[in-house]
Amino acid sequence: MKLCYCGSGYLFGDCCEPFLKKVAVAPSAVVLMRSRYSAYCVANVDYLVQTTHSSTRKLYPKSSILEFATQNHWLQLEILSATHDTVTFKAYYLDASLAPQVHYEESTFVLEDGAWYYVEGNYEL
Ligand SMILES: [Zn+2]
Repeated sequence: MKLCYCGSGYLFGDCCEPFLKKVAVAPSAVVLMRSRYSAYCVANVDYLVQTTHSSTRKLYPKSSILEFATQNHWLQLEILSATHDTVTFKAYYLDASLAPQVHYEESTFVLEDGAWYYVEGNYEL
């Protein structure tokens, strides 16, 4: 058994995997954010598209999500703070030339029809 990519300390099968397999719906913005990080780790592009809100989905084409997910080697997620509908985090990864990088973002989420969606990210922190 494998520990979850999101760093929760739980097994993947007890943490983000049920969301990625669509047998459960993330109950909060921060849980959705963690599951989206795990989706990047396993390059589950469909999940990333489906959990992006319809209003901004066209800004994140499948091809760019796939490229961002697979050209980098994802190391660690660090949640810095979270509110009801925002999550500020750092995602540590090695880029295509194996240089260490940090993706620093404040993400905004919205709850619609009982499911949380990623709306957009602020990178100017
Ligand atoms: Zn997880």
